[in-house]
Amino acid sequence: MMQVLPITPRGYCPGVVKAIDIVNKAIENPTLPRPIYILGMIVHNRFVVDDFTQKGVITLNETGKTRLELLDYVKEGTVIITAHGTEDAVFQKIKDKGLTLINATCKDVQKTHDLIKGYLEKKYDILFIGKNHHPETEGALGIDPKIQLIESLEDVLKLSSSDHPIFVTNQTTLSIRDLDKIFALIQTKFPHAVISDEICNSTRIRQEAVLKSNNNIDLCFVVGDPFSHNTASLVKLSKTFTNAITYPIESVDDIRPEQLLGYKTVSVTSGASTPTLITSRVIEYLKQFDETDKSTWVK
Ligand code: SF4
Repeated sequence: MMQVLPITPRGYCPGVVKAIDIVNKAIENPTLPRPIYILGMIVHNRFVVDDFTQKGVITLNETGKTRLELLDYVKEGTVIITAHGTEDAVFQKIKDKGLTLINATCKDVQKTHDLIKGYLEKKYDILFIGKNHHPETEGALGIDPKIQLIESLEDVLKLSSSDHPIFVTNQTTLSIRDLDKIFALIQTKFPHAVISDEICNSTRIRQEAVLKSNNNIDLCFVVGDPFSHNTASLVKLSKTFTNAITYPIESVDDIRPEQLLGYKTVSVTSGASTPTLITSRVIEYLKQFDETDKSTWVK
């Protein structure tokens, strides 16, 4: 039998719990105008999105379309803003169209927006470190067209030198190790830059737990949706900085028994938007798996 280590903390963060709760309360509230729309995936997990679709909520999500553009599909009803937050122009458009607004923006994302706005008022140049087209980055860049996106060390190297005041902040779910490198390069190039690390606490403690747990582990399964950026960061950290052979999976169905043969230890973690039940099924399967008994291979 394999030794299974469920890594803690893992799974739902407070921002995701709150966003899901907000949608459930909207569904139960008969006074809210129908239909109820969610602008983008409420959290990046298709199981959560499918569950709400079955309950009659319409998720508007189209690759290449911004939140602002997705609003063109909405003629009436209620619009829910996701945990990733959005730009002020979206709030204005919802108001102009006479729609009812429900805002499920996570408070950690909101804090980043408030910081950026504060430094813009003080006439700082703003650098935002994030993943292009991710909704959280889209929301932050939408605050002001002058905000510059930084995705990599190469992007920092391309910046022209400047002694103008600079404020630097970031998407909340980046890899802590990647971000530290980018911050260090910015600090070298612009020693006067004000840097505010806005990796949220949930992301940080999940990533640190992976780094700490995985060094003497053979395999690691990271449960989460391909669209979930914080899940991708967990995978990247585990692959790059630990000895565990690391696989991203959406659910237990993605585990191939052959992947487990010959290994003694396996850890399991999950992204901040992965439902607990999905991860529990992975842990249960691994716990009962016995490579000498093929009946335990079946899911
Ligand atoms: S990962 Fe962090 S920023 Fe994103 S919803 Fe969760 S707590 Fe908020």
